Amino acid sequence: MVERICISINNICNLKCRYCHFLEKNSVENTKKLGYKPMDIFKILDNVKQYVGHYKHIFKIGFIGNGEPLLNINDIKKYLLYIKDYENIRTYTITNGTIDLKDSDWAFLENHNMNVGFSLDGYKELHNLYRCGSFDRVMKNIQKYKNLTRRYPTLNATIGAESLENKEKIISFFAHFDTKITFSRMIGKYGISLEQYREFMEFAQKRLSVRNGGFDCTMYGGLCGVGVNNYFFSNGKVYLCGNCIDLPHIKNSDTGFFELEKIALKFNRSKCYKEILENQSICKNYQKVGIL
Ligand code: SF4
Ligand code: SF4
Repeated sequence: MVERICISINNICNLKCRYCHFLEKNSVENTKKLGYKPMDIFKILDNVKQYVGHYKHIFKIGFIGNGEPLLNINDIKKYLLYIKDYENIRTYTITNGTIDLKDSDWAFLENHNMNVGFSLDGYKELHNLYRCGSFDRVMKNIQKYKNLTRRYPTLNATIGAESLENKEKIISFFAHFDTKITFSRMIGKYGISLEQYREFMEFAQKRLSVRNGGFDCTMYGGLCGVGVNNYFFSNGKVYLCGNCIDLPHIKNSDTGFFELEKIALKFNRSKCYKEILENQSICKNYQKVGIL
């Protein structure tokens, strides 16, 4: 059963983070290959409504993808209004924290129960190294969010080689926030190995409340969830996950979830499916490996 989707509502960002794998994938060459085009997000939401109407289960929608979602705050507000009567549909987004929303916009997200996560990679020097010197702006908006909602947002930190060298300092930094931290593994050309990441997580969870486990993504400390319960919608297409947008798409974005739930993949889920395919150098066509 499909339980979660991410919808990429734009392909633009105001930052150029050093490790951004969307920027890597959104090179001119890939832009042509991926064939960017607008997507009918209301149609996707209609399909979600129909699906949860049938199963009555909790369904999570992440408005996150190939860019900074809050650049399209007015669109997000329309989507939230469109699904507001469906209690089973939960929503979240992750922002780079540099967009100065009006207080009324933050309040709107809060009043419509959207969980907002902020990307914050750690103490100032480290965050600035990875994320375009944005630390002060991000911290200002985190504080603003806290003042309005009376709690810290969830925080998302990407762990790279420099983070591993400074893990004590990172843990001490995050220990000041009374919130859950999602540590994700840096992938791509600056990436670290799954083993290095898991070692870091073991260390971190001794002192912090961290997100871990479940069918989700090995980048977030869980098992690879592709083809189990979640999909990624972008550019009018459905992909196995956000990291798989340079692999063949699965279906078009107007496909209903009763159709998507039929997809079943078998592989060792403690590994990243995308990396398995890359290591086998056969990611051009799923049929060649007999998995799909
Ligand atoms: S904020 Fe996110 S999408 Fe934008 S450049 Fe950084 S990692 Fe990429
Ligand atoms: S294929 Fe890799 S990046 Fe995608 S969900 Fe699985 S573990 Fe995560």
